[in-house]
Amino acid sequence: MDEPVIPGQGESSTGGAKNVSGSMSASAGAVFELSGATVRYGPLTPAVDAVSLRVRRGECVALVGPNGAGKTTVLRALLGLVPCASGRALALGRDARAWPRDALARVVGVVAQREEPAFPITVREAVEMGRYAHLGAWRAMGPADREAIARAMRRADVASLEDRWVATLSGGEWQRVRIARALAQEPLGLVLDEPTASLDLKHEMELFELIADLVRHDHLAALVVSHHINVAARFADRLVLLAGGRVVADDTPERVLEPARLAAVFNWPVAVHRLPDGSLQLYPERRPPRAPEAPTP
Ligand code: ATP
Repeated sequence: MDEPVIPGQGESSTGGAKNVSGSMSASAGAVFELSGATVRYGPLTPAVDAVSLRVRRGECVALVGPNGAGKTTVLRALLGLVPCASGRALALGRDARAWPRDALARVVGVVAQREEPAFPITVREAVEMGRYAHLGAWRAMGPADREAIARAMRRADVASLEDRWVATLSGGEWQRVRIARALAQEPLGLVLDEPTASLDLKHEMELFELIADLVRHDHLAALVVSHHINVAARFADRLVLLAGGRVVADDTPERVLEPARLAAVFNWPVAVHRLPDGSLQLYPERRPPRAPEAPTP
């Protein structure tokens, strides 16, 4: 199958995607695009129902919504892991299922929801694994590959950890290593499924700051699934709110965080307040206290 022509894509010495150092001009085209996409796992209600969304380079989009809304399924469709029953899922303008897996891995970095370090390897070896999509089965690592790995480790701030065994890392350090591994692919787009699920507030903020920096300065397209709407609202350019497999809203956080809409989607009363920095934050309300039971006679 032919190597796809990537809009705005320069040639690297490895013949794959160009580096993440911000040297490319941002492409006008979408890196990720769903167009009226419906995905079914069986004959029942579709998991994703006629969903359309786009993520361009230099844009961070957060996919939010209740459990079972279809967020992970959207990512799977965009990565060509599940077929669309109708509509289309495109990566860089090409049908996600038509991409050869290694070619897609050179342009899209994935940080999946759950992954425990499986082998006794060092941080450097883990990040090097991200380079395999460029190396193939037979080509040895060259200077461009080593530079891409070193740059990815610097970018994700894990260079000082390079000799550590991955099994000894904290949750936050391991997440940064996984991002470094994705960056070693020198991708144009990043897909992250709940990347901060088990992180404390410092590590969560650091991770979102890193994603925002990769989007702003390296012009990556980032699609992030998160249950942490308040953090997502502070970093994402757009929130795509999913419920029951459908897009309920796709707009700036300012426009999406509307109390009545969120209360309906999450089936829980919420209030929305503005922080001093101008961003909106969601507060789930407490249930009113139950009235004391009448004493039994
Ligand atoms: P969560 O926030 O809980 O991770 P989600 O928004 O990512 O949920 P999905 O994992 O995409 O939601 O699931 C959407 C729907 O599809 C759910 O009803 C789920 O039970 C169903 N589903 C997901 N994966 C499969 C599968 N492999 N086989 C059958 N049904 C599935």
